Amino acid sequence: MARLDTFPVSFKVAGRAILIVGGDEEALAKARLAVKTSAEVRVFAHAFEADFAGLGVNLFARATQLSDFDNAALVFIADHGPEGERARAFAKAAGVPINEVDVPENCDFYTPAIIDRAPISIAISSEGAAPVLARLVRARIEAVLSPRLGAIARLAGAMREKVAAALTDGVARRRYYEALVTSPAVEAAVDAGRGEAEAERLLGAHADAEAEGGAGVVWLIGAGPGAEDLLTLRAQRRLQEADVIVHDQLVPSAVIEMGRRDAERISVGKAKGHHSFSQAQINTLIVRLAREGKKVARLKSGDPMVFGRAGEEIAALRKAGIAYSVVPGVTSALAAAADTATPVTLRKVSSGVVFATAHGADNAELAHWASLAQSGLTLGLYMGKSIAAKVAGDLLAHGLSATTPVGIVVNAGRADKVLYSGTVGAMAEDTIDFADGPAIIFIGHAVASGDWAQAAEIAPDIKRIA
Ligand code: SAH
Repeated sequence: MARLDTFPVSFKVAGRAILIVGGDEEALAKARLAVKTSAEVRVFAHAFEADFAGLGVNLFARATQLSDFDNAALVFIADHGPEGERARAFAKAAGVPINEVDVPENCDFYTPAIIDRAPISIAISSEGAAPVLARLVRARIEAVLSPRLGAIARLAGAMREKVAAALTDGVARRRYYEALVTSPAVEAAVDAGRGEAEAERLLGAHADAEAEGGAGVVWLIGAGPGAEDLLTLRAQRRLQEADVIVHDQLVPSAVIEMGRRDAERISVGKAKGHHSFSQAQINTLIVRLAREGKKVARLKSGDPMVFGRAGEEIAALRKAGIAYSVVPGVTSALAAAADTATPVTLRKVSSGVVFATAHGADNAELAHWASLAQSGLTLGLYMGKSIAAKVAGDLLAHGLSATTPVGIVVNAGRADKVLYSGTVGAMAEDTIDFADGPAIIFIGHAVASGDWAQAAEIAPDIKRIA
């Protein structure tokens, strides 16, 4: 494994000075970084070519001298001539860490890309190897952080003593702080200048909950079709708040890993054919965990409300009087539609889409679907891979035209997706040798408008005869 050559630390500069040697744009860039701190920023140069006005730095139109380094925390050298060399010697003598712009071998430290939500700071460093990449990573992190993060962190700091007095249990305290930093009500209150009042109200509520033995909650969370970046921001936040993550087989480990490191993880299996937990056992499990006062993330593939047996779990939670909420996810049929640019509804072609399970469908249901597809609706069939030919045959028997287009996506929304396309007639003849993984079967005229160019043909032999 590659090891870091630098150790990230937060270096105290309050009450001290940060020195900058040089007066050009490079020096200005470092000055802009330095003024994010409360340190006094002193810039030394014979000529100030860049515009330092309005930054709040002190300019010295002279060379550095050893005494300048007395109370210096850091020095940035942006002068590659004799003045820079002189400053480097002084810094060495005074033991002040040096960053010399673009000269890594002279650097004691590098400047990371910084996200500043004082008192919270996040530094992203590539040890000088890929600063552009570090800035890209910064932009991605910026996008998920509330702009009020700093204000909320200060609020959390100000609440410390009150929290210690009101909540005796360490876990209860952690829960309070988690609620404080994630609550939309707190964010709104911070904006309105009454953050402290809201923080205290929340503390009161948590103290009551602790007195009652702690209130657990269950979040039914949609993990999407399997790609980490198809998870919603809310799902991600809930995963990080959860004390325990109860997940299905289909949820990939990269998504499960997004939870807190010390959160408990329970796999409740349910891979086809391996029912390691019955639905009743899962219901009992999540109720019990919540009763213990835990925050439970019940993580399901796709969307929890689509063939996720969420109905049964919600009924159990309601009956037990446990708080719950649902976080939607990208259901696999819509991931499959995205993968193949298939508009599942299409003006003048398809006025709607039906999500249905092919598994266990009876004759009446099949007749119903056949007429829906015949009238133009798109069918998105779940759990149909192993019985694809039979379903197609049944639909034909119930009057669906054999030329109706079919498109199938195995592993929708994932890098290893595999596509198949053809007609209902061909699918009825062929026992397709499918790739491993779950599949969505689309049937309907809108399928023909999708991009199935990469798809394997269903029953190519039959097509050739036709
Ligand atoms: N709640 C899930 C569905 C769970 S039922 C959702 O909203 O997607 C399991 C079925 O979902 C599988 O049999 C398959 O038909 C479908 N499925 C789940 N993940 C899939 C994926 N990545 N690609 C294609 N189909 C998938």
